[in-house]
Amino acid sequence: MTVHGRDDRGDDANQDLYASGSLGAAAPKHQFPQHEIAPRQALTLVEDELMLDGNARMNLATFCTTWIEPEVADLLARCWDKNIVDKDEYPQTAEIEARCIHMLADLWHAQDADGVGTSTTGSSEAALLGGLAAKWRWRAARFAASEPTGNPNFVCGSVQVCWEKFARYFDVEKRQAPMTDGQYLMTPAQVLERCDVNTIAVVVTFGQTYTGLFEDVTAISAALDGLQERTGLDIPIHVDAASGGFLAPFVQPEIVWDFRLPRVRSINASGHKTGLAPIGCGWALWRQRSDLPKELIFDVSYLGGDSPTFNLNYSRPAAQVIAQYYEFLRLGREGYARVQGQLHETAEFIAGGIARLGPFTLIHDGDRSRGIAAVSWRLAAGTDPGWNLYDLADQLRRRGWLVPAYSLPPEEANLTIQRVLVRHGFSRDTAQALMADLTQALSHLAQHPPAVALTEAEAGSSSHTGKSAGAPA
Ligand SMILES: *Cc1c(COP(=O)(O)O)cnc(C)c1O
Repeated sequence: MTVHGRDDRGDDANQDLYASGSLGAAAPKHQFPQHEIAPRQALTLVEDELMLDGNARMNLATFCTTWIEPEVADLLARCWDKNIVDKDEYPQTAEIEARCIHMLADLWHAQDADGVGTSTTGSSEAALLGGLAAKWRWRAARFAASEPTGNPNFVCGSVQVCWEKFARYFDVEKRQAPMTDGQYLMTPAQVLERCDVNTIAVVVTFGQTYTGLFEDVTAISAALDGLQERTGLDIPIHVDAASGGFLAPFVQPEIVWDFRLPRVRSINASGHKTGLAPIGCGWALWRQRSDLPKELIFDVSYLGGDSPTFNLNYSRPAAQVIAQYYEFLRLGREGYARVQGQLHETAEFIAGGIARLGPFTLIHDGDRSRGIAAVSWRLAAGTDPGWNLYDLADQLRRRGWLVPAYSLPPEEANLTIQRVLVRHGFSRDTAQALMADLTQALSHLAQHPPAVALTEAEAGSSSHTGKSAGAPA
């Protein structure tokens, strides 16, 4: 074989990358690739594909962390090989997870000061675990009282899709209070109307996905206290504090939403949202040990040592939990208060612009006593500017901003809103750039009203995947 034979395709590290055989043809999409290619070529193919993705920090739809300190990136890179389930091999990682749980038990005023809980991949898994524990407790109590154990239900307002999953995957009826125009939050009266002997829990969302508003845990808890006095029915609360759990304790500690209310038996929160950890970190905590049925905990010894596990997955990266611990140590209550306080201020700045610039009615103005660091709005009732919020989302998208418009449940109510999430790493200066583009978009729409207004489905189809990006995260 000659040194420069024509068929040593792509293996020569000095060959121009794009002139190499592997990059001269399109990569396989539907067949399992036959040939091996060089790491740099593979990396180039993957990186070039990703050029078409949006810029994560301009994605104002997501609740999840899109900015981290370089120290966190460094930790992630160094811990990628640790499996959190392997507690015998990585005892210090297990200790770090336990410390995070102690800290959260302290932050959320758990009864068992040491904390009973687990890290998860996110709030969804944590919510499913909280729901499962409630179902098991309810069934045990019904069984002990020789009552039937069929047809369990849970009561909620407009919840994130994880609760639809809980209902369907675990066969529990969802009794949902509808949103109506101007009434976005589940009321105590709506809760009471839906509770009966088969209610395993009321799920209260502390930081609604749709609007960003806090449901009133204290008022709902008091209503359930009244129900218990009248009927003897003792219905627990699970708080879905995906975002609120890492905001209110720092910036509005006087809101009582957590284990200070005896009726709150479990809480889920997303470490990877306002917890500021990178994506892949959630937390589930219980008020005290007796709130977590033992039957749900498995002890396994395959990895050496005895490891209790209460999770849906088995293997899972530990790096996110380690990064969460870094954030707790790095920021403390003071740092979180400063970071989150600034996010609320930026949200209020954006809300001010929204109210001033267009025919909008604010639903959530970013006020820390009413909801998370987000802004949500709708077209003012009775106005028809000749375009809709999907058109506005489309205009903003041309500049790279993802500001989703979506309809509130139930779909039939036909109420469309739009929302901006303000996250760590989104500066006041960037917010100003967003407002400048919003001003531009509104003036463009005024001069060129669309002949046919966009629909939710069309507004979401940003790429050949055709998937809707409008639905809330
Ligand atoms: C984001 C969110 C979830 C789901 O959380 P993940 O961490 O994305 O799994 C559940 N509930 C609420 C209220 C949320 O905002």
